[in-house]
Amino acid sequence: MRNMKQTRKSLIARCRYYKGELEKDNPYNGTDYAMLWYYESCWVDFSLSSPDSLLGMVKEYKNDGMDKILKRDGVPLSLKALLYNRYTNWSIGYLSGFREWYFTKYLKTTVEEIVRSRKPRKCPLCGGEVVEILYGEPMMPEEDYFKTYHKRVVYGGCCISEHSPEWKCRRCEVVIYKK
Ligand SMILES: [Zn+2]
Repeated sequence: MRNMKQTRKSLIARCRYYKGELEKDNPYNGTDYAMLWYYESCWVDFSLSSPDSLLGMVKEYKNDGMDKILKRDGVPLSLKALLYNRYTNWSIGYLSGFREWYFTKYLKTTVEEIVRSRKPRKCPLCGGEVVEILYGEPMMPEEDYFKTYHKRVVYGGCCISEHSPEWKCRRCEVVIYKK
């Protein structure tokens, strides 16, 4: 019993929002963070009562290449996998969306920007193909652009600012800034 308690305690220590409160006392009720608190409490419960379900989520997380996209940062892998599982369940956004959500909502930091002095041959996160982002009114569909100019690009919309990214990965959709 004592061991069980310690384990629970050590799991809670890894959480950012959940500190072992009862669900009715969720201190984040009424805010965006209530859900994060709840997911963390699920993670603690699953870790203790059904670790297999977490293993399944870790497998899914790895299958989608998320372990390459998000580096080790002290947050337990199975907790990240559970967040990813929840995220993909209610979101249309996919890989790059989760990365941004994880940084801005969960870690409450800014997305780690990738900056390069020239176009990388491969995506530094997933190894996918990196292409130039073209801004302005698109003249033709991306597919036709490729046929005409033999160069793959993606369209970045009409608005370009000083801080617009230069390149984008076609696979995970992460954007890369030019130094
Ligand atoms: Zn990529």
